[in-house]
Amino acid sequence: QTHERGYFPTDNVLMMAVELGMANQFLRDLSQNVKRGLQAKVEKGWYPGPAKAGYQNDAAAGKGEKIIRPDPIRFPLLRRALRLILAQTHTPMQALHILNYECGYRTPKKRKMGGLPLSRTTFYDTLTDPFYYGRFEYPKGSDRWYQASHKPMITEDEYWHLQRILGRDDRPSPRLHCFAFTGLMHCGECNCLITAEDKEQTICSQCKRKFASRNRNDCPTCGIAISQMASPKHLHYVYYHCTKKKIPCSQKFIRDTLLEEQIIQTLHTLTISERLKTWYMDQLRQQAEHDANDQMPLRQSLQEAYSTCQQRMDNLLKLKISPQNNAGELLDDETYARQQAALKQEMSRLQFKMASTEKDADQWINPCEKTFHFACYAAAHFKNGTPETKRAILTALGSNLTLTNKKLRISLHKHLQLMQLVRDPSPVKNHRFEPKILGQSNRKDRALDPAFPRWLGDRGSNPDS
Ligand SMILES: [Zn+2]
Ligand SMILES: [Zn+2]
Repeated sequence: QTHERGYFPTDNVLMMAVELGMANQFLRDLSQNVKRGLQAKVEKGWYPGPAKAGYQNDAAAGKGEKIIRPDPIRFPLLRRALRLILAQTHTPMQALHILNYECGYRTPKKRKMGGLPLSRTTFYDTLTDPFYYGRFEYPKGSDRWYQASHKPMITEDEYWHLQRILGRDDRPSPRLHCFAFTGLMHCGECNCLITAEDKEQTICSQCKRKFASRNRNDCPTCGIAISQMASPKHLHYVYYHCTKKKIPCSQKFIRDTLLEEQIIQTLHTLTISERLKTWYMDQLRQQAEHDANDQMPLRQSLQEAYSTCQQRMDNLLKLKISPQNNAGELLDDETYARQQAALKQEMSRLQFKMASTEKDADQWINPCEKTFHFACYAAAHFKNGTPETKRAILTALGSNLTLTNKKLRISLHKHLQLMQLVRDPSPVKNHRFEPKILGQSNRKDRALDPAFPRWLGDRGSNPDS
């Protein structure tokens, strides 16, 4: 019943940790398993959507492992049509006509759909989709490109030749470079996805001119080749910006360094010391043990009730099959069935209760530990992490990531908001929750301190008591 509580320092922080840990961890595990499955597939180079024209999903490849294979009929037909355009003997429209009406291309039949000639739209999508030479983007619009494992229909050179024929060769080439935060944030102004790009610059060692050097080998001012320069300075910048795909948007670029600084600042608001983490985890484990002891009498009484039911079940059966009950004098069929059903129901109810008393502690200790661990180490991991680590940490931090006027906004996950509270539960300064200070506080202070965990006094874990 987390919704009934506000996040105030007067609340028992640990009780909330328990409640939140249970609620969140369950949902998070659930959605992450789905995402992890897709991501694993993508990392292996398998496009995670329905197969595109000319290909088919191969479900027979093993449990859950759907891979993409060329469609034995449609792949060669489509490739032939692309070759006609590449040879420049046919226009795209002529090639499509031949495909549909001379070769009889029909889309795969699925229920009442399909079985139709290839549409103009799909054909043009096919001609401009890097998928056909072995690259795909996931998630769509994120600018994260993967090397595909499926058999390409054309080569990369043929793809770019095709784009020139179509007058589409101005499109940026899908580069495999992975930026840490693409596709995670939305623009606060127009709600489009935030993407990234990088720039490479070189400072000429001869004339000190700074120039974009990705596509050139020499200095535009003095003409000296970069390879001939004595000590050229190479600069690499990454910028994040709105994709501006929906409506005009006035948002500007932001450097990756500025973005990372803001993420680190947010991480610092919830970073707890290792000592505090250890202290809390000790308290939690003690509480778990205490709860387990509390449960002992309950578990025993449940066990006894269950045995009694079993006994009554046996007696009932003995009575039913006894020689004196030949014609149902002692126990007729209907009564027997009714009593047996009632006992069975009672037994399964008891079984369920016994199972739930055993699970309790495991269910919250583990998620709590993960949360404390994250609060303790995430900032350090982020600072020294690979792009993948940084991305994982930002994802774990919260949802609704928006970027407005170079300011990143994050709705922190509830269990991490709690860490901010754990870190500094008291609105009054000098009333920190650090264990050392707690240990020094005397009873009078404690009674006045609403942030002091209520159960601690009863536990005798405090040196004062
Ligand atoms: Zn925008
Ligand atoms: Zn120069």
